[in-house]
Amino acid sequence: MVRIRMTDIIPLIGIPEPKQGAIKYDIPCPCCDDKPKGKHLNINLELDVFRCPRCGFSGGVFDLYAFYSGVNRKNAREVLLARLDLRDGNRAATTVPRQKLLQPQSIDCPITDLDTRHETYTSLLSRLSLASDHRQNLLNRGLTDEMIQCLGYKTTPMVGTTILAKQLLSEGFYLSGVPGFYHNDEGQWTFIKNFRGILIPVRNHEGKIQGLQLRRDDVSKRKFRWVSSAGRQDGSKAECWTHLVGPPQETVIITEGPMKADVIYALTGQSVLAVPGVNSLNHLKATLKYLKENGTKQIMTAFDMDYLTNPHVTNGYRDLSSILATLGLPYGTFLWNPDHKGLDDYVWEYCYHQGS
Ligand SMILES: [Zn+2]
Repeated sequence: MVRIRMTDIIPLIGIPEPKQGAIKYDIPCPCCDDKPKGKHLNINLELDVFRCPRCGFSGGVFDLYAFYSGVNRKNAREVLLARLDLRDGNRAATTVPRQKLLQPQSIDCPITDLDTRHETYTSLLSRLSLASDHRQNLLNRGLTDEMIQCLGYKTTPMVGTTILAKQLLSEGFYLSGVPGFYHNDEGQWTFIKNFRGILIPVRNHEGKIQGLQLRRDDVSKRKFRWVSSAGRQDGSKAECWTHLVGPPQETVIITEGPMKADVIYALTGQSVLAVPGVNSLNHLKATLKYLKENGTKQIMTAFDMDYLTNPHVTNGYRDLSSILATLGLPYGTFLWNPDHKGLDDYVWEYCYHQGS
């Protein structure tokens, strides 16, 4: 049987053409891109599929042809065989390597853009509440109710997640490509609910929510996790985003974890950049570059004390030092009494308990 390829139909439907030799490329999505520069629809010329991670518009060669030409999807193959003059098998059927056909298609959805994630997460959090045990936990760190509200911390929803997703969709928010959301076995959008805990918005320099972290209840190891729906149908994997709180001051502290950063900033007014861990520095360089261009002159690193003793942490710390050196940002290290595990404990102790 003759195989009709994406490359066969692209000239027929008048969409932008791929660059020579490209195996995939992006074009404006006909379903959701309203900005002139939006290019969310990804066309894969190797697998002959297309997908928009933002709105979920996806399919194969015949779907794309039917959409643009107005031909009924059922007749698309016949129509194309005629238009391309392939009815008598004029072209040797393109052979697809067997291995490729057997490979399971990834069920994950590529991550959507920052603005879309920010809007969806903001709306999601506005519908959730903060449980009293979580509120107390945050008050114990020195935050006030006003600060907590400003930060947008909420308790994970443990019931009603499909209803929540339905409400978001009906109000025009995109769930496709937003980590945490996925399709359940009934084919409905829903939000992940593996663990109860505090949801922490992870924001960029404009205060936009890039992703969410979860502080899990009742665990002592790996307490903080990214909210991710990787491995679920149409789910998305979180990236290791950085979290910046406060303006680009002359001195900015780097620490581990967004909650710690929020607490330090709230209690001291000192701007803090949080990295998700010293071993995941991939988004850090861009944020440091932004800070440097906007007036930051030095960096103080303040990680949990175990970087002094844990060899893996020490390696990550060396990588961080080399990024800072490359950017020409002088840096120093806050050292404090190892009895205080992190800087937020230290700040709390010294600002509020000493002499009071
Ligand atoms: Zn779209």
